[in-house]
Amino acid sequence: MTVANDGEEARSVRVQDVHASIAACDRCPRMRPHRRFSTHGNLGARWVMIGEAPSKESIDRAKYWLGVSGRRLRRLVSSATHPSESRSLELDRDFYLTDLVKCLPPRGKHGITSAVIGVCGQFLTDELEALHPRLVVTVGAEPTKWIMDRYPPSHPGLGSITDLHKTVDLDAWCAATWGLFLLRPFVHPSWGNKYLGSWDAYEYLLRDGLAAAIRLAVQCSA
Ligand code: SF4
Repeated sequence: MTVANDGEEARSVRVQDVHASIAACDRCPRMRPHRRFSTHGNLGARWVMIGEAPSKESIDRAKYWLGVSGRRLRRLVSSATHPSESRSLELDRDFYLTDLVKCLPPRGKHGITSAVIGVCGQFLTDELEALHPRLVVTVGAEPTKWIMDRYPPSHPGLGSITDLHKTVDLDAWCAATWGLFLLRPFVHPSWGNKYLGSWDAYEYLLRDGLAAAIRLAVQCSA
């Protein structure tokens, strides 16, 4: 990942070139009824959030994280404080938002096949190349696995997705800088209560874990 001009405006221009390629893409004919959209939060942001695939609500209203899970995620993000500005975090203002698969699969999550990921993942690579992020937040198992496959962790003790999902240990995270960016994976909000035992536990982990990761990303890039 090499970048010549890394200002916010340059990042925004580069990523819009990627969006043009995505808009022109027609490689998965079965996804035609539910095409991707072009609203991605802050186009020049150094904090990137990656989901699995857009929901029907997102496709219909051209905005990320609008379904039941998305509303839960938005509420938790807005309950965290921005590390250097005296305000709450705002998903669309503070993050570049994208998905591993850009179109809504016909069978929902079950349609996120390795074949589709293999084709569509190149766009995510291009987005990361364009943005040169400090922090990558993955939501759900598929984008976490994809990132870990392509950008292996620089810390040998943090190779397990389970460990990554459950830790809020700042020292561990500092060591886990992915060489290029800090990775902070989260379980998808659709089943966070089952994975962690309760919604309270999930909400604590997401709210506090996200705030800690952002603080660390800011420190690491200061
Ligand atoms: S899912 Fe990705 S590769 Fe397939 S048509 Fe949509 S943008 Fe293209």
